[in-house]
Amino acid sequence: MVIAPVKGKINIKYILCLLVLICFNNTYAINIIEKNEISPVIFENINIPLSLLNISGIPFTSFHVLNDIQRARSQKQIMDLCQRVDSTYKKLNWGKSPCISVPWKYDYVSENGNPLIYWDFISDSLDEDQKKNITVVLGGVHPDELTPIHLAFQFAEALQKNPELYANSHVIVAPLVNPDGFFTNPPKRTNANGVDLNRNFPTATWNKYAYQVWLKSKQKDRRKFPGYFANSEQGTRFQADLLEKFHPDKVISIHAPLAFLDLDYEIPQLLSIRKLTDQQKKARNLAELLSRSAGNYKIKDLGIYPGSLGNYAGNERIIPTITLEMSSSNPKFVKKFWNDFSPGLFKAIKYEFKKHQFADIGNSNTDNQ
Ligand SMILES: [Zn+2]
Repeated sequence: MVIAPVKGKINIKYILCLLVLICFNNTYAINIIEKNEISPVIFENINIPLSLLNISGIPFTSFHVLNDIQRARSQKQIMDLCQRVDSTYKKLNWGKSPCISVPWKYDYVSENGNPLIYWDFISDSLDEDQKKNITVVLGGVHPDELTPIHLAFQFAEALQKNPELYANSHVIVAPLVNPDGFFTNPPKRTNANGVDLNRNFPTATWNKYAYQVWLKSKQKDRRKFPGYFANSEQGTRFQADLLEKFHPDKVISIHAPLAFLDLDYEIPQLLSIRKLTDQQKKARNLAELLSRSAGNYKIKDLGIYPGSLGNYAGNERIIPTITLEMSSSNPKFVKKFWNDFSPGLFKAIKYEFKKHQFADIGNSNTDNQ
């Protein structure tokens, strides 16, 4: 075959271009593989069937890049939230908030798109038994109760700065369960849908009684509206999910201004019943420990409501649940409340249930520790 000189030149150009392209693509492909070590870790939080990853034409890297973007977006959302917390702190004369000092994470966002933040304080050196001593601490369920939000943020910051405080325990802190209510001016009890997040849990009695109880209550208090359906709100699902995910041994939810500690565990009138099981005694001991630490703070059994956390977690799921009602929502008392209640909270997170539970089998007199 004879090839004309002009055509030959073009062909050589094409061949050179082709060679350059092939070399570039190979280097590019090698770079991709080197930069992105494909490991199960990268995919562990992505719900994509593994079979999909084998489809030709979808580069592995696209998932990695997507994941980075998601991570950057969630960091930005947390930064935005902390900025809003900071500006609300300013209005309340609380100075700069400790929000940014904890590397929060979130799985849920509120109805207004605010991340529902929490952090999981756990020491790497824990043995399996210690890892089981788990406490969930909640703040800001009712954001017109201002003081608990400050206490919960400050508590999280203290744990972040002093890991020895949770050295033998595992603590999950969610300081602002209802950010939408906090960012309303003025802050309000309910969430963006006007629902009370402490009346919306899907308890066994919710369908039958929650709405009726509210209808018959004095003036149908809009602040305590339970919602049209149980578990209809993001803030409710978020709290229920923390219980489901971490299986805590105890829950402490901080509120104000009723000025007492309320323990919910197994039965509503726990504290007035004489014969308690060993576990009930331990739950009561935990409440007493918190009370003693705060100068014999009053312990009162308020009972439970359809859709309340005490009912859902304490009564139905048998997780000792303490509602710490501080005596005022007035923002000027935050320093006093920190001094009054933080020592008890630090002790409470180290208070163990499960170890004693096994000790009981051999020795029933160990429960008064
Ligand atoms: Zn409250």
